[in-house]
Order: sequence, then C-alpha cells, then structure tokens
Amino acid sequence: MQLLKPVFDSVLARNPGQPEFHQAVSEVLETIEPVVAKHPEWLKAGIVDRLVEPERQIMFRVAWIDDAGRVQVNRGYRVQFNSAIGPYKGGLRFHPSVNLGIIKFLGFEQIFKNSLTGLPIGGGKGGSDFDPKGKSDREIMAFCQSFMTELAKHIGADTDVPAGDIGVGGREIGFLYGQYKRLRNEFTGVLTGKGLGWGGSLARTEATGYGLCYFMNEALQHNGKSFKDQRVVISGSGNVAIYACEKAQEYGAKVVAMSDSSGYVVDENGIDLKLMKQIKEVERLRIKEYAARKPGAVFTPGCRGIWTVKCDIALPCATQNEIDEESAKILLGNGTWAVGEGANMPSTNEAIACYKNAGIIFAPAKAANAGGVATSALEMCQNSMRYNWTFEEVDQKLHQIMKDIYAHCTEVAKEYTGNEHDLVSGANIAGFVKVANAMYAQGIAY
Ligand code: NDP
Repeated sequence: MQLLKPVFDSVLARNPGQPEFHQAVSEVLETIEPVVAKHPEWLKAGIVDRLVEPERQIMFRVAWIDDAGRVQVNRGYRVQFNSAIGPYKGGLRFHPSVNLGIIKFLGFEQIFKNSLTGLPIGGGKGGSDFDPKGKSDREIMAFCQSFMTELAKHIGADTDVPAGDIGVGGREIGFLYGQYKRLRNEFTGVLTGKGLGWGGSLARTEATGYGLCYFMNEALQHNGKSFKDQRVVISGSGNVAIYACEKAQEYGAKVVAMSDSSGYVVDENGIDLKLMKQIKEVERLRIKEYAARKPGAVFTPGCRGIWTVKCDIALPCATQNEIDEESAKILLGNGTWAVGEGANMPSTNEAIACYKNAGIIFAPAKAANAGGVATSALEMCQNSMRYNWTFEEVDQKLHQIMKDIYAHCTEVAKEYTGNEHDLVSGANIAGFVKVANAMYAQGIAY
C-alpha cells in the first residue's frame, strides 16, 4: 500500500484497540489502490478518508431485569457507516465478545457487500455484548425491549434497517419489532428477518447459506468443478451453517463435519441435517448432543480442530478469524482446493495469503455471503409494496443476484488485476466503485 498509506496510518492512530477494524480496512485499502490511482478526483475529494470514518456511531446503556429480579446492564451499539447508496442496512449481533471495533469491522465490510448486491442499501451494523445463551425467553424479551427502546430513536424504514446476525434470530427480531411498533405506532419494514405472518420474506432464513452455495457453485463451475460427491466441512451450526449444509447436500456434496463454540462433530456418513436442525433450531442444545443421538458420529471439544478434518471444500460459517495461518496450512496440506466464506472475515489476512499462494478457489465473505442482506433488501421491497412473493420467486431472485455478483467480481478482477480468479480484489473494487461514485456525486458539506 502506497497511495492510501496515510489513510491507513490515520485509521490506526484514531481507532486504537480495534484490531478487527484495522484488519478489515487494510484488506480493502490494499486492493482498491489501483482504482484510486486512476481517479485523482476521488483522492482530492477525500473519498477514502471519509469512507473509513462511520457517518454516525451510537453507544448506549441497556438495563434490564433478569429472572432473579436483579438489574443487568449491557452495552448497545449501532454504527451507521455509509448511506451513499441507500438506507443503512446490516445485522445486530448479540454475543459477549461484541465491542465497538467488532461492530465497526462488520459495518465497514457491509458497505461493500451491500453495494455488490446491486440493490439500494448502505452499510451499518449493531449489537450488544449481551449473551443470549442460557437466558429464558422472558429474559431475552426484556433485553430486546430495553435495547429497542433506545435503538428506535435512530432507525426507520428509510433511515436504517437492522436484521439478525450471531445470537439474533427470528425470536429476537420478533421481540425487537414488537417494541418498535409499541413505541412508534407504525407497521413498517424497519427490521428484516421478520416472521412470515407479519412482514417477513420467504427464503430469508435460508438466504445466506443458500446464497453462499449458489456463489460457490458459480466459482466451481468456472473452474470445471462441482459440489457433487465432494467432502465438505462447515464450521458453525447456526443460521448460515445449517442452510449452507442444506444447499451443499442438494448439490450432491457430502458434508462430514459441523461445529459450535464448544467443539465439532464428524459424521463420516454425512451430516443428518434433520437431526442437526432439531438439536440446534428447535431444542437449542450443544452440538455434542448430535454425536450422542447419531450412531457413528464423533464429538471433539474445541472448535479449531474442525480444520484438521480432511475435506475438498471448506465453508467457514461461524465467526471472524476462525481460520488462521496455521489452520489454513493444515487445510491445504490435507488437499482442500476451495474455501467459501459464509461468516464475516472468517479467514485472517495471513490465511488468505496462504490460499492465494496455493492458487485455490477462494470466495471472500463480502461477495459469497451477500445473499442474506440481498434477501433482506427483497424483504424491504415486499414491505414497501405491501405484497409477498412466493418462496420460488425470492429464491430465483437470490440465485440470479449471486450469479450476477460472481460475474461482476470476475469481470472487475480481470480489468484491474489481469486475474479473473482474484475474487478478493474483484469484490472489494466492484463494491467500492459504486459507493465512491455516489459519494463523489453527492459532494461534501462545506
Ligand atoms: P448464529 O448465531 O445463528 O450461529 C453462529 C454459529 O457460530 C453457532 O454455531 C455458534 O456457536 C458459532 N460461533 C459463534 N461465535 C463463535 C466463536 N467465537 N467461536 C466458535 N464458534 C462460534 O449466527 P449466524 O449463522 O447468523 O452467523 C454466522 C456468521 O455468518 C457470522 O460471522 C455472521 O456475521 C455471518 N453472516 C450472517 C448472516 C445472516 O444472515 N445471519 C449474513 C451474512 C453473514 P455457539 O452457538 O456455540 O455460540
């Protein structure tokens, strides 16, 4: 990085103690440099200097009462990063590891991802260090209501439209939406991922996992390969992982391992997804229960070990930085020839360098997991029309969007790097150009 080094230095100086945010910014700045070099007017207009600074960062106290009658205090966040091409859009994450740096890395990546979908959505992200694990439904509801009491002041169907992420699924969106409606007395598409009977879109639940496989299928075909009869390892067993497993199996893959934060299960007969859904979606139990109920399946504690399981295709769908350099080398040593990111930033920059050196197929998160937010935008569209599309209609639009993202990334990668398979550059540049053009056109307030 040369031209944009001063911008990166200033990000480091102004955002101390936010390593995930630094990591996400450095990956983007490295790849967009050749584009910025062609646009001196963007440099003069400080497009990148502005892009790395959120438009607004909101941090707030969330006090709620637990089942024992004790007052609990958590911290809430909403980072409204960029609204150049549409209302802020991005999920809410409830996990004890959440801090401002993590929300900023997610919000920053969301700008490019949302731009890539081709739909009119800006970038944002939010969440809390609240841990939903082990809480009763009443405690979850109390927390969600308190969280929304503040968040409602900052969001709206044309302003900022949150959705789910880690720890925020249909149950949490329901409690959040109920509180928003109570406070504002309006029924609008202010959140996505809603229930099907009250404004949700068919295929939204499946969208990120399905979209990942649609994108991977394009990449595999482009390289003369397919999912058929391939060994696939998927980390996580949440929303993204489960529906990635479903679609990969539909494509004929054999998914042999899945995980949660306590460990991983290997099932050489292929994951029984019906059983996995029962344990994870219905009963909300730990993954070792799968091995207890499925003869032949083996549970191993510790989640990193999943990358030692031999596979052709790895789909990390749990969390950020789950594949470091060491795990990447183990995967490559075991013959893995494709990695598709369902989670956000699951590979460290060092791991990505390993994939690049080995020349394997690598589908970066910004492009590969954009199906979730794309379908959220389709949910917004249906809410505005006060109309619902069928599952097939939404799924077909999602499929086309993922195909278009793949085609766009390869085209842009070829134009700027000469290598159409460099999807990291393709995704970053394609996402950036649209946002930069919009920011330039909209000027700066003097
Ligand atoms: P869920 O909460 O449904 O599932 C998360 C899964 O990852 C769980 O199995 C969880 O295990 C595991 N996990 C979470 N944190 C860790 C950790 N620190 N170490 C190991 N395992 C962990 O979340 P989603 O499936 O929605 O999200 C997964 C990833 O996909 C995230 O990176 C998210 O940002 C990204 N994503 C999600 C989208 C969506 O539409 N939901 C859209 C685009 C990206 P446990 O239950 O034990 O915590």
